[in-house]
Amino acid sequence: MASHSETLLEVRDLRVYFGPAARPARAVDGVSFDVRAGETIALVGESGCGKTVTALSLARLVPEPPGWYAGGEVRYLGHDILKYDQRALRRLRGGEIAYVFQEPADALNPLFTIGAQVAEAIRLHRDDADARALTMDILDRVGLPDPQALLKTYPHQLSGGMQQRVMIAMALACRPKLLVADEPTTALDVTIQAEIMDLLARLQAELGMAILLITHNLGLVAQLAGRVHVMYAGRLVESGPVREVLDRPAHPYTRALLEAVPRLTGSRARVSGIPGAVPDSTDWPAGCRFHPRCSLAQPVCREKTPADESAGEGHAVACHFWRPA
Ligand code: SF4
Repeated sequence: MASHSETLLEVRDLRVYFGPAARPARAVDGVSFDVRAGETIALVGESGCGKTVTALSLARLVPEPPGWYAGGEVRYLGHDILKYDQRALRRLRGGEIAYVFQEPADALNPLFTIGAQVAEAIRLHRDDADARALTMDILDRVGLPDPQALLKTYPHQLSGGMQQRVMIAMALACRPKLLVADEPTTALDVTIQAEIMDLLARLQAELGMAILLITHNLGLVAQLAGRVHVMYAGRLVESGPVREVLDRPAHPYTRALLEAVPRLTGSRARVSGIPGAVPDSTDWPAGCRFHPRCSLAQPVCREKTPADESAGEGHAVACHFWRPA
């Protein structure tokens, strides 16, 4: 079993583009980060910033074409998965790195029972296994009542929260070392969201896997993650320990994201949105990509790309005029 400090995944200068080479959509454009065994890290940012494409790239799940890997490396336990053959990729997907997505109803096959679908996920990676016994065990672990009866149930007979528990069961059936959870609770109502996140935290403690949480919900990040990466326009703009980044955000974009979170404390709830929208990935702005929306922008921001600077222990920020909050 991996030790807690072991680096599972090293992403280095990853570039994932879509469309023609002459004018590609540069969805992910020079992203680097690590995932250590057993930790929870979060990737946050608005829609269209490249979070999901980054997540899919970790098991090379971006459809090629229209997507293509324009550069960089994704090393899983030291081996670059961008160089894997199809057989190695099949072993990696589900067996080592598993995914839970936003819409469980879209991911489950309506024509097959829950039992058949979970057992299939197990058989794909463990041919020696007693699939029925493992199916019962994993359905029980994810807190679904009466796993025996559930084996013969079809997806449409379950609530959204139960469907998401089944998806988590399928993802965890082969004991992956990394679970990528892409907005896993966005489609669920608030009380169920809390149950699913508690479940993920409990299973992580039991199974010792790492979690990469993709979300725009900073409340979830504060609750679950140890480290956070803030992504904007295909790049990471701030990274660091969660408490440090959320309590002392150094980048204007991180501060804007935090100010956009509704607060119920104080005499009045105040929320401010971020002006403008994420630009088109075929035409990212020159210099700092956040400059058209940044209230602190200076002429240099339009011309020069800010490099990473240290804002504290393990805390990096890419801004010419960063300052602690
Ligand atoms: Fe704003 Fe300039 Fe910093 Fe970019 S580099 S975030 S435009 S102050």
